[in-house]
Amino acid sequence: MTDSHLIDLRSDTVTKPSPEMRKAMAEAEVGDDVFAGDPTVNRLQETVASLLGKEAAIFVPSGSMANSTAIRALTQPGDEIILHADSHAYHYEAGSPSAVSGCSVRLLPGPRGLFTADDVRAAVRPDDSHFPHSSLIIVENTHNVGGGTVWPIDRIPPIREAASEFGLRMHLDGARLMNACVATGHSAAEYAQYFDTVSICFSKGLGAPVGSTVAGSAETIRRVHRFRKMFGGGMRQAGIIAAGALYALEHNITRLADDHANAKLLAEALADLPGVSIDPDTVETNIVYFDVDAGKQAAETLCKTLLQRGVWMLPLGSQRVRAVTHLDVSREDLEQAITVLRGVFEGV
Ligand SMILES: *Cc1c(COP(=O)(O)O)cnc(C)c1O
Repeated sequence: MTDSHLIDLRSDTVTKPSPEMRKAMAEAEVGDDVFAGDPTVNRLQETVASLLGKEAAIFVPSGSMANSTAIRALTQPGDEIILHADSHAYHYEAGSPSAVSGCSVRLLPGPRGLFTADDVRAAVRPDDSHFPHSSLIIVENTHNVGGGTVWPIDRIPPIREAASEFGLRMHLDGARLMNACVATGHSAAEYAQYFDTVSICFSKGLGAPVGSTVAGSAETIRRVHRFRKMFGGGMRQAGIIAAGALYALEHNITRLADDHANAKLLAEALADLPGVSIDPDTVETNIVYFDVDAGKQAAETLCKTLLQRGVWMLPLGSQRVRAVTHLDVSREDLEQAITVLRGVFEGV
């Protein structure tokens, strides 16, 4: 199935469309989506809106554009966005909140990507002409840099309450929302109900090649639509890729549980290795971070050694390594990766 025997654990974005998904894409009915005339895109948008319990949804090329169009739609230049210091929207979207929405950011601390309503209250600016205008809170679920952290659903209503107190809107960066749903048994709509806008990605663990959506009220999605055009994200016969996303929603959600089980197995094996620090209890979904003891070897050196032995992981920081499980990594692949890790840490 893969072009080599490399076990690629760098990210869940590396998945390739399966033959069945490619078939669905090849056979997709298409039209010009900029004229709202692509039936497959329309079907995807309706499917996602109903999955999330929102009035409307819009297909966009990437998770970054989902976040940037939603942020732009919910803010004005000069506003301030409240979000966790480790957020994707802050670190990995090329400065988009400031560059394309003209917003400053107020960063919240908190273990593993989570924060509290009190953190939000402490971060909201007083209503005074000296300050930027606090207007939006972003929650990331699951939290990527936090370690694939699931937001316990009962932690969200108090944040919504704080938001309402100060008239703030809320965006859910749900690139991996379906992982949170599979891990907790809560539906996507249960999470989405607290948010004005919700993004989800099809090209992460869901295994489609391209695409994300933003969902929200009809009025908000009309604004998002305008900004999608402004940012160059209007696509024409996009049904070809929307069909991959629809296929992913139909076939690849429940199987995320396999990725979570594989990640747990990997975390438990890593915890037994000398020179590795990890708490397997913190691995709730498909993302595994671990630290190699300083003084022994650097993360980058370890990743080079692993790659020579067919296992691809990502060094993030001098001692930190990331491994992400996904639908192109089978249980056998994962067991092989563990064998390789044991060889590197114990054998040599
Ligand atoms: C991957 C990701 C995104 C979107 O990234 P793209 O590369 O633009 O698709 C957004 N938020 C989170 C939390 C992510 O992990």
